Amino acid sequence: MSGPGSRRWDVIVVGAGFAGSLVAKQLADHGWRILVLEAGHGAPDPAQAHLDALAAHRTASAKVPNSPYRTSEAAPSPDVTDLAGLAEGGFRADGYFVQRGPLPYASGYLRANGGTGLAWTGLAPRMHPEDFRAGDFGHGRNWPIGYGDLEPYYRAAEREIGVAGDAEEQREAVGLPFPDGYRFPMHAIPRSYLDQVMATALDGRCVRDPDEAAPTRLRVVTTPHARNGRPDPGYDGGAGYRPAPAPGQRGGGELCQGHASCVPICPAQAKYTPLKTQARWGPSVTLVTRAVVTRVRIGGNGQATGVEYRSYREDGTAHTSHTVDADLVVLAAHAIENAKLLLASGAANSSDQVGRNLMDHPVLLTWGLMPQQIGAYRGPGSTSGLEGFRFGAARARRAPFRVEIGNWGWTWALGPPDGRVAELLRGGGPDGRGLFGPELRRTLGDRIGREIAFQFEMEQDADPANRVTIDPRHRDALGNPRPVLHYDLSDYVKRGIAAARSVSDQLFALLGAEDHTRFEPGPAWPGYFEYQGRGYAYRAAGHGAGTHIMGDSPAGSVVDQWQRCWDHPNLYAVGCGSMPTVATSNPSLTMAALALRSTEAIHRDLLARHRSAPAQGAPAQGVAAQGVAVADPALQGAETP
Ligand SMILES: Cc1cc2nc3c(=O)[nH]c(=O)nc-3n(C[C@H](O)[C@H](O)[C@H](O)COP(=O)(O)OP(=O)(O)OC[C@H]3O[C@@H](n4cnc5c(N)ncnc54)[C@H](O)[C@@H]3O)c2cc1C
Ligand code: SF4
Repeated sequence: MSGPGSRRWDVIVVGAGFAGSLVAKQLADHGWRILVLEAGHGAPDPAQAHLDALAAHRTASAKVPNSPYRTSEAAPSPDVTDLAGLAEGGFRADGYFVQRGPLPYASGYLRANGGTGLAWTGLAPRMHPEDFRAGDFGHGRNWPIGYGDLEPYYRAAEREIGVAGDAEEQREAVGLPFPDGYRFPMHAIPRSYLDQVMATALDGRCVRDPDEAAPTRLRVVTTPHARNGRPDPGYDGGAGYRPAPAPGQRGGGELCQGHASCVPICPAQAKYTPLKTQARWGPSVTLVTRAVVTRVRIGGNGQATGVEYRSYREDGTAHTSHTVDADLVVLAAHAIENAKLLLASGAANSSDQVGRNLMDHPVLLTWGLMPQQIGAYRGPGSTSGLEGFRFGAARARRAPFRVEIGNWGWTWALGPPDGRVAELLRGGGPDGRGLFGPELRRTLGDRIGREIAFQFEMEQDADPANRVTIDPRHRDALGNPRPVLHYDLSDYVKRGIAAARSVSDQLFALLGAEDHTRFEPGPAWPGYFEYQGRGYAYRAAGHGAGTHIMGDSPAGSVVDQWQRCWDHPNLYAVGCGSMPTVATSNPSLTMAALALRSTEAIHRDLLARHRSAPAQGAPAQGVAAQGVAVADPALQGAETP
């Protein structure tokens, strides 16, 4: 193992994804010397890397979230194509995860510089105040902090990642408390035509949720987005807001233009990605890519002393090992990889909770054909939703859920429209004959423009039996353990899914839509299950959480309210892995707010250790002025981006 060289860092951040990029920026703004170790590939020229990713996306046969990005066997990524359902029920898993069932953990993530936030959808709602108190409803846990503790950091996160939304509408329709006069940095992304059709048909109408005594009144509500809308000149007391450019862009950031390919890549770079935060890193950040951290080193006094990592060649072979020291270590490698690292290090697990409580948002999809054209396949994946099933008394009986109104037709349920072309060619005519030429074009145009889908995102309760473990028999190309997952859905979640299906039936009836939803065991539905005599299947939202769960005592949790490991005061684990509940909102804005809050604690810890703050923006010794690494003998063998 090669030595760490002479440098000792203030902080090592493991992972240059969503959380790691934010933590590094905030700490560098205080002048701390930060080493960011990133397992995936980077690129010296981010503008060219974006063009390369676009080209890869265009030619990819399966346009799945990871397809535009360069991945490596040395730091494998789980992909949605790893799973397939079996005709006799059950599923097969061929990828990076070792799946131990009974049901599949069906989400992926991306190990490349920028992380999963390159491929994410970019929806950025806040959690509801009630989400912090799920335990009061008899399911899941209470958070050690409340909405009020996080509120200022929500605002900071909305500024940092650039959120477009309508605060007044969120206050009225979702019940979110904002400080008086608060406005999002950018006006809400305009409703799609489809949203307008939905609002006309559904606003003010009621549906019966089988687990709620009173009928639920519907309202179509715009969703806050981390993509550039029109800046609000009234933001920040009239100071306004300027969307940040993507790396390689000149001037301000581009506005969302409705290309509708946000997952996996936004051609205009209007969607937030962590590379935008990286572009604003101060000079005291050094990023080393192709550096897979394998272990956190813990000293005899229980303090983290640094990490071990393996760097690999451009072609993924011939790794070399390194150690590097720091005053403080922050794990920001994704919920599942953080847990894996802690387990591999024998760290932070006096509670036996590391890797447990794995949560996600299981998604029930329902799909149908509207009686009229609704302009499907335009704009971001979802611009509006139905929020009234996220809170309230029914939560004591079934999992609460958010409903996303999908702009991308049946893509998530059945694949892109070319599948429908094949179907019509095979036998789409009324007499079962295939359709060709003008008749095919007419039928296709008619049907595709009427496709509607609802996405019901269920809160999953924290169950210690749902977990990530490691097993020396299952290793990747570098010899690192692969995550072994045990995953299932509780009765609470299944009951929520059944309630969502009932709500969907009523929505289709109100819309006069033909319901085409059909689940059956087979390759397309690895998440097929039966509940109370009816067949269901779920997709997964990519929202892994809970694996280093936060709590108010070391007995039952891994990290405290600052995401500091109870067992090691200078080791932090940040990201959705800390969340005690995955709640009903897409989690990354909350994760970002938590990360920003944690940087204050980290800054305080470092000050206590050093007794005085470093000069603002002071570059680390020997580090180039652009916040990226220069040759350091200690880091040789790893690529600098
Ligand atoms: C298709 C999809 C759509 C999504 N859409 C949304 C959405 O609309 N809204 C929302 O809120 N959330 C969404 N999410 C979830 C969101 O992407 C994640 O919550 C978020 O990216 C997690 O951030 P993170 O920093 O914890 O992990 P990541 O973003 O995955 O970053 C982790 C980083 O650590 C690196 N790393 C991993 N292991 C190591 C190691 N051993 N050593 C060094 N580096 C390592 C990785 O390469 C990566 O760069 C979506 C996810 C998916 C998959
Ligand atoms: S809709 Fe188009 S422009 Fe807007 S964020 Fe998505 S891909 Fe980018």
